[in-house]
Amino acid sequence: MKGTVLYGPRDVRFEDREESRIEKPTDAIIRMTATCVCGSDLWPYRGIQKIEQPIPMGHEYCGIVEEVGSEVKNIKPGQFVTGSFRIADNTCPHCQFGYQSGCENLGFMSGAQAPQLRVPFADGMLVATPDIPSKDIVPSLLAASDVFGTGWFAADAANVKPGSTVAVVGDGAVGLMGVLSAKVMGAERIIAMSRHESRQKLALEFGATDIVTERGDEGVAQVEELTKGIGADSVLECVGAQESMMQAVHSSRPGGWIGYVGVPHGVSLAGEQLFFEAVHLHGGPAPVRRFLPELIHLVWERKVNPGKVFDLTLPLSEVAEGYRAMDERRAIKTLLRP
Ligand SMILES: [Zn+2]
Repeated sequence: MKGTVLYGPRDVRFEDREESRIEKPTDAIIRMTATCVCGSDLWPYRGIQKIEQPIPMGHEYCGIVEEVGSEVKNIKPGQFVTGSFRIADNTCPHCQFGYQSGCENLGFMSGAQAPQLRVPFADGMLVATPDIPSKDIVPSLLAASDVFGTGWFAADAANVKPGSTVAVVGDGAVGLMGVLSAKVMGAERIIAMSRHESRQKLALEFGATDIVTERGDEGVAQVEELTKGIGADSVLECVGAQESMMQAVHSSRPGGWIGYVGVPHGVSLAGEQLFFEAVHLHGGPAPVRRFLPELIHLVWERKVNPGKVFDLTLPLSEVAEGYRAMDERRAIKTLLRP
């Protein structure tokens, strides 16, 4: 089979790779229905995150189970499944607490930008849909695997509740999913910070009530003005840069919550400043597995359409163009069909 391999900065190849097969009795093999390119794939793609050797890319997936190992009990061949981008057993104490992102058997899924994928701990990782989904909701089920789950975690970590005032820093795919998640959780006001027209439009579709185009201190001043000087109850930080993190901290009201899911690159926080801001900070890689049953249910009942975040769909063989389009910000997120 052919799969996606990153060799170095801006060098994505679609090349021959070995077929996946069952290696452990807890594995499953799935035949990919759809996969996609993640914003975090752009860190090694741009050379910001160094790679030692060529790496098979892709960690978002959904498809039909082809084969399961002898110890897999709950997942069966023929089922349509999706699963988390973090490898976790879903049985250890951390998983039981709902932090599959800190599993004792933690790993990072890779190699999903391919026609077929081996999933470890299949019983813990995968969630099956009630039936084979119709084509139109496949992008939304795929989104649950990472981008929707991560946006959802940002809102969950930021304590979004019915009636909350929420600010979302970052208008990438995760930020947009944060807007959608806050809406589903009942936020009354959702301030999306975005300076790109197409992304503002999508943010409004997903439930944003206000758009702030300024960044940094000017952006903070806008949030202050919109909230009558109080600040937001909940802020979702979905970028991972110093400026966006400070924007989040300063946009929060004293006692507010910040859910941060942008992988920090060069972010440092001063203890004294944090002390006087009096904010709750909670973030990290999203424990998507905790949320998957609920997210799948929301999609299945057609209460949400997170799949709209994919504004480019390509055949898997054109994956390199999918990366380029996202790198050049011509696309928010690329869906790939094997
Ligand atoms: Zn675990």
